[in-house]
Amino acid sequence: MLSSITGLKSLIFPENKGCPLCGRQGTPYQICRFCLQLWADLAEGLVPCTKCGRFHSGQEGEMLCWECREDEPQYMMSRAVAPFEGPVREAVHYFKFSGRRELSYPFGELMAALLVQLFPFRTFSAVVPVPLHTGRLRERGYNQAALLAGVIAGILKIPLQEEALLRVRETPSQTSLSRQEREENMKGAFIAGKDALLLQGKRVLLVDDVYTTGATVRECCRMLASAGVGEVYVITLAAGIVKDKKDDKTKEV
Ligand SMILES: [Zn+2]
Ligand SMILES: [Zn+2]
Repeated sequence: MLSSITGLKSLIFPENKGCPLCGRQGTPYQICRFCLQLWADLAEGLVPCTKCGRFHSGQEGEMLCWECREDEPQYMMSRAVAPFEGPVREAVHYFKFSGRRELSYPFGELMAALLVQLFPFRTFSAVVPVPLHTGRLRERGYNQAALLAGVIAGILKIPLQEEALLRVRETPSQTSLSRQEREENMKGAFIAGKDALLLQGKRVLLVDDVYTTGATVRECCRMLASAGVGEVYVITLAAGIVKDKKDDKTKEV
């Protein structure tokens, strides 16, 4: 009986559990330092592109990845906690496809901590999640980007604007499309909602779970800019590793 009560309690109060990824006890429902070390190891020898935040080799002191050098994104800057590889990829899939919505807490905490570290004095007028199409939302039951945005908004005490962007079209898989095709593919997928009008001339934080090709974020920023939003910063849990230009076949999640 006691164990079933304890089990129930830990279900209701996930802070009683250990690390949600490896189960190590000792941390109150936070990603433990062993898991974080595995994540950090993925970025070994790589640097985040100063614009898109994806990880690249930074050869010859290059601060921007080749894609941003060729076609600089419209947003101010994008950053991610870790590369979208190995254990991070597994963790994101777990969060997205296995109904583990409570992972938004430890993941959102990591993202908020990175924001505080990067922009200690920068203020944002709103946190805006990348929206999910209603069909997909019904299927999955939650929008992982909106959950992360909610946690970040709560920690940093910034208003959450869930309706600033709306997804009006589902997009076919981005796999094996060229960069230009991916951007074409995203056109018309989003519109600015009425809440975007409250953000005219303001600085906002766009939140997604993963930054892979950047096509989604670029299109969202285009819509926000068209609604008059002043500056967009982007934060994601994970970001891809920029492939060499010749093997550019970045895969979507
Ligand atoms: Zn762990
Ligand atoms: Zn870049």
